[in-house]
Amino acid sequence: MMNYDLLVPARTVFGWGRLDELGALARTQGTKAFVISGSRQFAVNGTLRRIDELLAAAGVESVQVGSIHHEPCIDDVDEMTISIRRQLTAESLVIGIGGGAALDLAKAVSATAANPHLDSVKDALEGVGKGLTLEQPPLPVLAVPTTSGTGSEATKNAVISSSPGDDQPFKKSLRADLMVPKAVLIDPELSVSVPADVTARTGMDAITQLIESWISCRAKPVTSALARHGLELAIPMIERAVEDGSDREAREAMAHAAYLSGICLANAGLGMAHGVAPALGILLGVPHGLACAVMLPAAIAANCQVRKTEIAKVGRLFSGDRDLSDTEAAAGCADLVRALNERLGLPSGLSVLGLTAALIPAVVKGSRGNSMNGNPRPIENDELTAILESML
Ligand code: NAD
Repeated sequence: MMNYDLLVPARTVFGWGRLDELGALARTQGTKAFVISGSRQFAVNGTLRRIDELLAAAGVESVQVGSIHHEPCIDDVDEMTISIRRQLTAESLVIGIGGGAALDLAKAVSATAANPHLDSVKDALEGVGKGLTLEQPPLPVLAVPTTSGTGSEATKNAVISSSPGDDQPFKKSLRADLMVPKAVLIDPELSVSVPADVTARTGMDAITQLIESWISCRAKPVTSALARHGLELAIPMIERAVEDGSDREAREAMAHAAYLSGICLANAGLGMAHGVAPALGILLGVPHGLACAVMLPAAIAANCQVRKTEIAKVGRLFSGDRDLSDTEAAAGCADLVRALNERLGLPSGLSVLGLTAALIPAVVKGSRGNSMNGNPRPIENDELTAILESML
């Protein structure tokens, strides 16, 4: 018997060159837009100026509230919240344009700005805050992703780190169904300027999300169908996108796969690789997508028996060999991901990212959370320790 909920953005506009429609789309959500951007490129190449012009032409006042060049922390959200609360009107919206960092900052700020009972975003963060929830809906968010990775444009959470110097560092989510962006504009042309190394690791983030949501214990037929389609797009195209950033077919495929990966993760959860990634980010400063890429082969190997059918399908997509039996395809899958990482210039072990045996207990402790709960079978601390030791 089918029985499920599906949360998706109310409106998605996808296509090459469709940034031109930003003003009209923003106007459906309000008349004053707080714009948060995520790349220095956008000031240099005129994108921010163009956004102002597009908004003005549609009758939307534009306020550039800032840009972010690192994964967002509590101070980033709190400072921007104060600034936006001072300038709020009844018809305000927030536009996030950038990678997952800018989109998450936009989503978090849209929630905190509309909820004055929160003194800090930390009050409502999962696991570390005061356990407060949103009393008011967030300001409408228009998400414009420019990396093809996190799928944050389609998810109901924003990942926020502790601020520098915090003696108990963490990376946790602000999560609420109402945080799914109201409108999404995906113009793959915006991703052309993403450097090759960022393309590689963000693309592997999307692939990891698609695989982990497909095998998650919360997977459902609709998300599994989307995950499979996303993998059919991304696996053949990720290398082309890395080798030639102007390859239009590859950029489109990766942008669409990343969007689908967001719908999948928001509705089906994730697994071990995404469980460990935040701990590697907090303790070692490893970028999110890179942590996911390195952990993916181990996550596949750890779940190979309990999700043999699905992992065999993934293995056939990687190998291109449709005649492999389930046993052969599933058994070869982790190695094929390792080989892809190598071709993309990504590492295969954790030592090179700075992990030492002494840090493993902290990584294990920091890996418990919503993502790990989606793993198709429990991975206890002893097993996770052994997996991480084997990757040194
Ligand atoms: P990112 O946003 O940090 O961007 C990576 C780099 O690419 C940055 O230096 C950025 O300035 C640059 N960049 C972005 N767009 C560019 C462009 N068009 N041209 C040139 N450079 C560009 O990285 P990311 O991987 O997109 O996002 C990672 C963040 O997303 C992490 O904080 C992670 O925790 C979070 N995340 C959130 C979700 C969610 O559902 N909310 C899911 C996964 C990850």
